[in-house]
Amino acid sequence: MSGTGWVSEAPCAGDLRFTPDDPSEEVLRAPRTQDLLKVCRVCPYRAECISLVKPRASQFDGICGGRLWFNGEIRATCETAHPRELEEGAKPITHGTESGARAHNRRGETACSLCKEAARIAQANRRAKKKRLSSQHDQRSR
Ligand code: SF4
Ligand SMILES: [Zn+2]
Repeated sequence: MSGTGWVSEAPCAGDLRFTPDDPSEEVLRAPRTQDLLKVCRVCPYRAECISLVKPRASQFDGICGGRLWFNGEIRATCETAHPRELEEGAKPITHGTESGARAHNRRGETACSLCKEAARIAQANRRAKKKRLSSQHDQRSR
């Protein structure tokens, strides 16, 4: 998915707890805030989230891209996070495509379910095509 269309599909969509109005260090340290990182753990858009918010550059306070930030510094990280997601301005992954699956791979992360499915279908199509070509070849050489 390109652009920011993913925002409405992210697991945190519309949840204001991710960007508290009063982001005191106390609020950010509270277990209920740390708990929000569990939502990011299954989010396929962590890199996009960081590219969009640019938490370091914007001295962000709150949850972004699988990390808890205070003053643009990381205070906690969700379990499945990968350092390469932190490149602010990295090219976003087009989810639900085979090239998306490869991009996940290059970042060292497990592909999200959409990309995994796209890669599976692409591979099945290639196999079917190969089979078709080889059976055409068999028929011709008979
Ligand atoms: S990484 Fe976390 S904060 Fe960012 S979109 Fe996903 S769930 Fe929301
Ligand atoms: Zn993906």
